[in-house]
Parts: sequence; structure tokens; C-alpha cells
Amino acid sequence: MLQYHIVTLGCQMNKSDSERVQTVIEGMGYRWTDHEEEANLLGLLACSVRQKSIDKVYSKIRKWNSWKAHRNLLTFVSGCVLPADREKFLKLFDLIFPVSELRQLPGMISQYGIVTPLQHVTYKEPRRAGSQVKAPDIPCSQGQVHGVTPAGSLVKAPDIRLAPAGETVARPLLARPEDPIHNFWTIRPSYNSSFEAFIPIQNGCDKFCTYCAVPYTRGREVSRPSGEILEELKELVEKGYKSITLLGQNVNSYGLDKPGHEITFPNLLKKIGEFGKDSGKDFWVYFTSPHPRDMSDEVLEVIAAHPCLAKQIHLPVQSGDDEVLERMNRRHTVEEYMDIIGSIRRIIPEATIFTDIIVGFAGETDARFENSRRVMARVRFNMAYIAIYSPRPGAVSARWEDDIPMAVKKQRLHILTGELIKHAKEFNHGLIGRKLRVLVTGADRKESYLSGYTEGRIVMRFASEDQSLIGTFAEIQVTSASSYAIEGDLVGYPDLSRP
Ligand code: SF4
Repeated sequence: MLQYHIVTLGCQMNKSDSERVQTVIEGMGYRWTDHEEEANLLGLLACSVRQKSIDKVYSKIRKWNSWKAHRNLLTFVSGCVLPADREKFLKLFDLIFPVSELRQLPGMISQYGIVTPLQHVTYKEPRRAGSQVKAPDIPCSQGQVHGVTPAGSLVKAPDIRLAPAGETVARPLLARPEDPIHNFWTIRPSYNSSFEAFIPIQNGCDKFCTYCAVPYTRGREVSRPSGEILEELKELVEKGYKSITLLGQNVNSYGLDKPGHEITFPNLLKKIGEFGKDSGKDFWVYFTSPHPRDMSDEVLEVIAAHPCLAKQIHLPVQSGDDEVLERMNRRHTVEEYMDIIGSIRRIIPEATIFTDIIVGFAGETDARFENSRRVMARVRFNMAYIAIYSPRPGAVSARWEDDIPMAVKKQRLHILTGELIKHAKEFNHGLIGRKLRVLVTGADRKESYLSGYTEGRIVMRFASEDQSLIGTFAEIQVTSASSYAIEGDLVGYPDLSRP
């Protein structure tokens, strides 16, 4: 049996993309292996926006190519790839393609004479040069199957590169008039969990923050049709999924690229909320990441009104200083951000608030950094993903002097982490004595404990070895708290699906 292995780097969007890539590969008859040294097909969902990820791509492909001397092996790379990296990857990988062209992968492999496991079964006669091979059907999210483009027609595919052994293909990528990402979204994902799932609702970004390369790797914003999103969500809820995250680089600008033709983000949430009520099922819907500029009271009111919309808001602030925000091209001021925080506290008082913040951005003086510290103190975030600034190849700020020494960046990281720990600990201590619903996600590092998270995504652990609780809701009475987690006793099973 031929086996495959995929390495996924980067953010949740890449992880979500990877679930659709798995569907297509398994449609060809390959089976997953946890061990890359056993695989016949090795793929990488790359992230070009962080140097650390790029370094990992090179280290993987060097190792994989060294194995080719001893066995047949096909390698591919997809995901977030900057044009400059794409040119370099062409020399190293057999295949490089954007995820939007994923449906054509089986045909491309056939085109170059690599017989996939399913073709072994389907076609007993060896393929003659120039003959057409029927590519396998790919499960589609609407319940039909789509046949992929037959091999013969793939010669015209502009965005896929395949270099037969020893040959380098380096043609420029061509723009397409229609957006092929829709074709990708209709592939049914191979979900990696039976109770948590991602649903991509939008691809690309129009915001062009100066430190970010996403608009150059994923392109402009494209919203997925709302009918498809609702269909995928309903199917997941019917199957018993408990936690569903709507994904987009700029999730709350959903629909704005199709004015008059698509519903807006608050209306999408409203439809999900109404479905939640009618379904009688228990589940939480999250979304990430929204942009402060597109965050409205309307969104918050819809969340407050519908129990299935999780009371947790992840709202990146990135800096607490107006001049730095301007250099970042964030298009909002600190006070505008604080107004949104005020609205969250007023409309959804129980909501937890998470953020992303960068320290040591080019031009961040001590005084400007102090403004970020003040924002941390004012908001009292439940969680903050604090990143040390590093120029990302392809982003505008990579052309500016990276003028804050690493030692200072690290010190600032330490200071903001201290703020986070202090506030999160206070909040978590306030939960002691309360009974909270928790989605149990797995065994904890602490022996004989399980862990999970609350609706506000606070990590919770409790003593139990009952593996059947994983993937269900449990009721926990909180007995102790630290900055990053709470602990408690199992007191009930609100999950109605549990006997
Ligand atoms: Fe990048 Fe800014 Fe778009 Fe987020 S909003 S994906 S940080 S450009």
C-alpha cells in the first residue's frame, strides 16, 4: 500500500487547508502514515510569512531529497508561499501548487506517469503514452462527487509545476479571471477530530498591514458562499461536533467583497445562531481573527443573543501606540480599539477577551512600548499572544531598519507577559467556586487528569481517567486557579448525548 505524510506549518488556516489536501490524496488511494520515512508521497503545507517556518521547509526538503537516492518518492509543497520562495521551491520539490488548484493534483501525478494506488485497482492495463487516465472522484462538501480534470487536459493548468526527476520547471504563475478558491472549498475535509472543526469562510486579506505577508501569499479577500458555510456547519453539528471555528484572515469583513450579493458577517452569525436554537444541539461557534476596523456592535449583539455563539472574542491589537499602529497600517487608533473593548464589556459582560500584540516593531521607542503596556493594563486580557517583531520577507516593513535590539525586545516580551499573567490570574481566581461547562479534549499532562476548555477558552483540568468523556461537555466545579489554567472537580454531565 502506498502511504503519504503531510507536514503542516503556520496558522489554523493552513491546518484547515491540510484537511482538504488529505481528502484528495486519500481519494487517490494513499493511506496516512505518521512516519515520514515510510511515505511514498510527502507534502508540505508551508508558511512563508515566518522565517522559522521557511527554515523548516528547507530542512525537510533537504532530508526528503536525500532519501530519493534509495527509493521512489514524490514531494510537493503548497500553502502560503511568497512568489520569491516559489521560485526557490521549484528547484527542490517535484510539485508546487496553490491550494486553489488542489483538485488537479491527481491528474498531474498521472500525467507524469506516477501510478497511484487507486489506479492500480481501477486500471489493469498499463497506461500507454498519451492515453488518458480517469482521475479518482473527490468527495464534495455538498454530498456529490466531483471528477477531477483528466490528465490530458492538465497541460493547460497554469498554476501547477511538476519537475520530473532532474528537471526544473520555472514558468511564471498566471492570474485567473475567476477565483479558483471556490473549487477548493467544495472539497470535503478529512476532519482530524470528531468534535472540533474549522470552517474556512474567507480567504486572503485586503488590509495590508506593513509587517504581514498574507496579502501577498493568499491574495485579496474572497468570501465563501454563505450557503456552503451553513451547509458544512449543519452537517458537523448533526454529526455531534461541539466546537466549530469560523476561519478567515480578516473574518469579520466577510461578505464585504460581494456587496449586494452576499450576507454580512453579523447576518452570517445570526443565521448560525438561529440554526443553533432550532437544532436543539449543544455546540460552541468561535471565529478568528477579526480586525478591529470591521468590528461592530451589531456583531456583539448577535453573539449576546445566541447561546451557540461562544462568548469569547479574539481581537488583535498589535500595539498600544497610535504612531506604531500607523506605521503598521492598522487603520485604527488605540481609543477606537478601547471603544470596542467597552462595547464588548457592555454587550457581552461575560466574554473573555484575547489579543495578539507585537513588541519591538521598527520605531517602537521606550515611550511607545510603555503605551502598549498601558493597554494591557487597561484591557486586562484573558490571553495575549505576544510576538517579538521580526521582519517577514515579502512584507513592507522588511525594507525598514529593524532598529530594536533583541535584548530590548525580549525584555519587553517579559514585561507584557508579566501583565498578562497578573490579569489572567486575577480573572481565573474569580472563577473559584463556580460550576462551568467544559469541552473535554483529552488527557492532561498531569497523570490521571483530563483537560479541556470553557466556553471562554480558559484551559481547565480535572481528575478523571474516563476516556469516554473526551469530545463531550462536562460540568466542573472550579477549585483552584493559575494564570493559564483552572482546576476543578467533575460534578455533572450536561452533554445530553451521553447515556
Ligand atoms: Fe495580515 Fe493585517 Fe491582513 Fe491580518 S489584517 S492577515 S495582519 S495584513
